[in-house]
Amino acid sequence: MSASALEVFGVTLSEERIADLIQKSKQWALLHGVAMRPQQNSVSASCVEYAPMTLFPSLIPVGVLAEAKALQQHFNLLMHRVANDHVFLEQSLQNVIKVDSFMQRLWEIYTTVRQEGNPQPASLTLIRNDFMLDVKGSCCEIKGIPASVKLKQIEINTISASFAGLSTGMWNVHRYVMMQAGKETHPTQIPENFPAQGLAAGLLKSWQHYNRESAIVLFVIQSNERNAVDQWWIEKELLNLNRDVKIKYATFQNAHENCKLMDDRRLFLNDEEVAVIYYRDGYMPAHYPSEKEWNVRLMMERSLAVKCPSVHMQLAGSKKIQQELARPGVVERFLRDPDICRRIRDTFAGQYSLDLGSEGDKNVAMAIDDPKHFVLKPQREGGGNNIYGEDIREFLSGIRLSEERNAYVLMERVFPWQQRNYLLKEGKPTNLRDVVSELGIYGVYLGCDKKVLMNEEVGHLLRTKSHDDNEGGIVAGFATIDTPLLV
Ligand code: ADP
Ligand code: MG
Ligand code: MG
Repeated sequence: MSASALEVFGVTLSEERIADLIQKSKQWALLHGVAMRPQQNSVSASCVEYAPMTLFPSLIPVGVLAEAKALQQHFNLLMHRVANDHVFLEQSLQNVIKVDSFMQRLWEIYTTVRQEGNPQPASLTLIRNDFMLDVKGSCCEIKGIPASVKLKQIEINTISASFAGLSTGMWNVHRYVMMQAGKETHPTQIPENFPAQGLAAGLLKSWQHYNRESAIVLFVIQSNERNAVDQWWIEKELLNLNRDVKIKYATFQNAHENCKLMDDRRLFLNDEEVAVIYYRDGYMPAHYPSEKEWNVRLMMERSLAVKCPSVHMQLAGSKKIQQELARPGVVERFLRDPDICRRIRDTFAGQYSLDLGSEGDKNVAMAIDDPKHFVLKPQREGGGNNIYGEDIREFLSGIRLSEERNAYVLMERVFPWQQRNYLLKEGKPTNLRDVVSELGIYGVYLGCDKKVLMNEEVGHLLRTKSHDDNEGGIVAGFATIDTPLLV
């Protein structure tokens, strides 16, 4: 039986009160910058509405959030070391790049810059490490809370990790809603959360590392970005930290027209030198509709600017690397502390290579035999790309004899804790329904190959979706923003 946070606390509200709370929470969301551009924005680029969100916070065991946060610095370091291990990257990705042209293009940029010599040894990564709370095998519930809740990593995002801004505003909304609902929470139960400030601190440190007062931080953005408010949050936090930093926005198209790489590898946008390049674009094939975009990406990677992330860190964040890291002994190759390695491993679900060969054959057969226990993942970001359940059987049967299957990994399906909540999305019904959540932890890592300049855990994101939606993205239309109510 799933329950809502309010039900667990023994509070029941009339339909009238719920309708009133829904209205109030939307107002509070707008007041606190929990906002997005509408899906069909024919009005104007400055038109926003409240972002998809839950009415109530979701319950999260206090120890589970604490463990996810405690591991983040170690995950940051792990990813940094993976990204800087050429042999490991090559061994892990060689079969993928043969069949996945997007990954191949990224790989070509990486090897070109590597062969030329990367002029900028420092690299910034703003990470979001995503988990679900697995209750498979939990024997019972105590007061609506499963006896066993295990943190299971879904994926790690090393490029364009979003929603740090909106989650900075969201806990205010849920504290208010709980108060209005008659369940006053202690401030530690819905914790304060400032991930946008944390990410901004990473950008600031990178700008300082570049060490030229007049140089700018460049946000590389998509045209018609729905999630623009999330980026404005980071701009605001960056200016709060240091008024001297100049921030500019440009699409790949703008950069193609106005950026220039000098002989000494300094990058200029018009006549302004670029210190830091923060990509909120460039993580999916559709972001490179022509050679122009690929040329701009290469130009940026070849430059002296600090990239967030460098292309090798983007490659390290792929699902194939996640699957290779789950092999016995691989985490241990990068991190020394056995206790940390064990705790990181405890968060891994089963990961299986599908590469042509006998190991892959066995894993393909296993998935076809029992597809509902797996998720099939290509090397893609941004939601909406995975294959689930019976579709896996049909899809894999079609490519089982082809090299094409090297482009995918197979992951054990996680069955997360179900609660009940109202999902507030413009134009969608808002009945009480069964929902599941995904917890993201933000990390900042700035470093050269062997030198750490910054390594921090900076906050969290909770996203919640209907339990019968397979996929999870907010911009993709499935999930909503939520906050943890610690129990
Ligand atoms: P993307 O990079 O596109 O976000 P993800 O690996 O995060 O790819 O998958 C998208 C969504 O699919 C997740 O947000 C989650 O809701 C669901 N999902 C992914 N892997 C699993 C899994 N192993 N078990 C259950 N759901 C999963
Ligand atoms: Mg994801
Ligand atoms: Mg992702």
